[in-house]
Amino acid sequence: MIEMRDIHKSFGDKEVIKGVDLDVRNGEVVVLIGRSGSGKTTLLRMMNALELPTTGTVTVDGQTYSNQDKQSQIAVRKKSGMVFQNYQLFPHMTALENVMEGLVIVKKMPKEEARGIAVNLLQKVGLEHVMNQYPSGLSGGQQQRVGIARALAMNPKVMLFDEPTSALDPELVNDVLNVMKDLAGDGMTMVIVTHEMNFAKNVANRIAFIHEGQIAEMGTPDDIFNQPKSEPLKRFLNMIE
Ligand code: ATP
Repeated sequence: MIEMRDIHKSFGDKEVIKGVDLDVRNGEVVVLIGRSGSGKTTLLRMMNALELPTTGTVTVDGQTYSNQDKQSQIAVRKKSGMVFQNYQLFPHMTALENVMEGLVIVKKMPKEEARGIAVNLLQKVGLEHVMNQYPSGLSGGQQQRVGIARALAMNPKVMLFDEPTSALDPELVNDVLNVMKDLAGDGMTMVIVTHEMNFAKNVANRIAFIHEGQIAEMGTPDDIFNQPKSEPLKRFLNMIE
């Protein structure tokens, strides 16, 4: 589903991604872990062309983008749904309108049809009872679940999550993680940057440990947590225990 080949990325003269090859298979849940500043978010954002690699290629569902060709970047972006740390909902729209927006504006779907899809998705994330509330009336966890429903509305091939729970109060984290777990159970292809190690252990098919802009180790949760091989991963695991 996603192929990254020999990816390098610099900001100015600072190289932050230093030669990454990564494949995400259909239906797979891949979690990116690593220290702050290791390059996880940058890697994720290159998967939908929100950041462009300095060199290397990214292919999503058979579509490769190039830095010069904006259309190819848009084509890749349409294949993925992105969920950000700070929900980024439209404040002047209800939860329902937020989920309908892309369907009506981008997909030009008739409003009634869009409403039907949006209501279903809000049910799926457990929010049908607050669908007419504005974001300001929702908890952070509820807003994040609206964000997930909004991304799903566009029928993406892959869902990308950038620290989706790190801005939430601890008691709200599990509501969001449970929705993500259900999605994984439905067979959705997902790439997730998170500091939630229990979630990574329980839900990931594979975990990539990113260290100083490279994949230092990649494997099953058992490989990564129980049989770490590299010194940086051993240090990281000691640090978070
Ligand atoms: P965190 O867990 O703190 O979010 P991360 O592993 O996701 O960290 P990135 O956000 O990918 O790390 O950042 C990797 C490096 O690239 C950091 O040193 C960061 O300061 C730098 N960086 C990221 N985005 C930019 C930018 N737009 N301009 C300049 N430097 C950037």
